[in-house]
Amino acid sequence: MSDLVCTNCGEEENLLGEQVDEVITITCEECGLVWDRDLTPRCRTCGREDVRPAFQAIVEKSRGTQLSIQSMKLVYLCPGCNPELLARWIESNSPLPPDELPI
Ligand SMILES: [Zn+2]
Ligand SMILES: [Zn+2]
Repeated sequence: MSDLVCTNCGEEENLLGEQVDEVITITCEECGLVWDRDLTPRCRTCGREDVRPAFQAIVEKSRGTQLSIQSMKLVYLCPGCNPELLARWIESNSPLPPDELPI
């Protein structure tokens, strides 16, 4: 699909699509960004559509105790439900920490 472009690095070719239920998840093999295709950005909690796209780090625990950022995924932040995360994203302009850290 030619309308498919990585938001992070602009890659159009090396994109890997994987369908889970109704959602197609795309992985950019160039930079590792993960996002859902054809998803109308909308808050899953309150339904607002004025959400802001942001990158969230996907972290995996490597050997030893060090955590390293493996890749990123595209998430949408709701001004109503995630004001703190949204403010942090706008302020830092760097990937948000993952929801859960691997133990
Ligand atoms: Zn990319
Ligand atoms: Zn919301």
